[in-house]
Amino acid sequence: MIPTLTLKDKTVALFGLGGSGIATAKAMLAGGAKVVAWDDNPDSVARATSEGITTQDLRDTDWSSFSAFVLSPGVPLTHPQPHWSAELAHQRQVPVIGDVELFCRERNAALAAGDDVPFVAITGTNGKSTTTALIAHIIKAAGRDMQLGGNIGTAVLSLEAPADGRNYVVECSSYQIDLAPSLNPAAGILLNLTPDHLDRHGTMENYAAIKERLVAGSDTAIVAVDDDYCIAIADRLEKSGKKLIRFSKDQVLAEGFYAQGADIYRAGNGKTELLLSLDGIGSLRGAHNAQNALAALIACLTVGLTLEDIRAGLRSFPGLAHRMEQVGHQGKTLFINDSKATNAEATAPALSSFPKLYWIAGGLPKSGGIDSLRDFFPRITKAYLIGEAAAQFAATLGNDVPFEISHTLDAAIEHAAQDAALDTADEPVVLLSPACASFDQFPNFEKRGAAFRDKVMTLQGFAPIGRAD
Ligand code: ADP
Repeated sequence: MIPTLTLKDKTVALFGLGGSGIATAKAMLAGGAKVVAWDDNPDSVARATSEGITTQDLRDTDWSSFSAFVLSPGVPLTHPQPHWSAELAHQRQVPVIGDVELFCRERNAALAAGDDVPFVAITGTNGKSTTTALIAHIIKAAGRDMQLGGNIGTAVLSLEAPADGRNYVVECSSYQIDLAPSLNPAAGILLNLTPDHLDRHGTMENYAAIKERLVAGSDTAIVAVDDDYCIAIADRLEKSGKKLIRFSKDQVLAEGFYAQGADIYRAGNGKTELLLSLDGIGSLRGAHNAQNALAALIACLTVGLTLEDIRAGLRSFPGLAHRMEQVGHQGKTLFINDSKATNAEATAPALSSFPKLYWIAGGLPKSGGIDSLRDFFPRITKAYLIGEAAAQFAATLGNDVPFEISHTLDAAIEHAAQDAALDTADEPVVLLSPACASFDQFPNFEKRGAAFRDKVMTLQGFAPIGRAD
């Protein structure tokens, strides 16, 4: 835990007593703050009270003693409308902050004391968790003291406290950035920007402006220039004199880092150098993963790792569960769990990464269906449709792709495995990438992915591949 010593003897209000809210309250108490916490859910309040946190309805509380109001990132700050607690804080002119802000203040105190505390922060619409896990893996494999958290896994204030030589790799959602005015990583990464969570940010411009703050506050800003919003952000940062490194997964750059297929280059001062190849790294297949690997490479160089360490770390990255996770082989057939792909946009990278597919799709359909995936249909030898979306997906596949309505995941796996076993390709792939939410048949995408993994493990002669969680 990171005791928030910068709040010592201060009185602080907190709203949102989920996992990270409780962790934040405890870190503030450990740092010597007085905390008054609340939540709209009485069960969460009861749990916090039982863990020794003072709870009081913030509507019935005197705000004059509060020096800060800590809001959990899940609670609306601005859109669709400010939560009543955020509204109260604005009225009483109490600054609204989040756990990442408190982390930054603690790190800044350590820096001021002369400690070297490398901090990499990652944001973007897609690929945050993969990139965060990859950077953390490379830094750890290089033998450094490494702490991984934020929007992925451990709440940032539940990590070990800043110390000389301790490295932090922190995934930041736009909500966390919005609540962290002092966010100042040594290396800040912006991966990409596409419309997402606009219900919580109002407009695309507002969403992009929040993401921009992470790179604008960084010592070195690392920006992928593969979409118009990120290109505009990179141009603005350059104009403002910020130290900026551009990278691209699909264009050759005169200055910066880029990928051509699996090969990764660095260009600058009229020279271009081939740095490494991602060829044969099963956990980093596809152009989207080239974007993630480029970001990781640049961040790791920025915090002082050698190319040698980075190459080794990339090669040994086991990948994340449920994101194009290689589960294993039955004979030549490779089984991939991409259960995290809950809409067509998230399924596209998986379909584009494999040439010969037995595709398991379906679940609770999202608006738009799978029409946008039409370009990938020639790669699909057969589709196995499950859940409520089956009839709708069947109508889209029509005569273009052979399909069966398998109804259940188990039946889909059995039939796909049988069909793939007869394929003459070098490595036919059975892919679960549902392009749907899971809730019609599973509690969440993790449980759906686990069910896929458990079932394929029972296939005769199945050989698993190791992975990270
Ligand atoms: P996030 O944490 O931003 O949700 P993840 O790393 O969990 O991202 O990846 C989620 C899904 O997004 C993956 O299964 C993959 O389909 C897709 N994805 C991963 N990296 C990228 C990227 N750089 N660009 C676009 N899509 C990506």
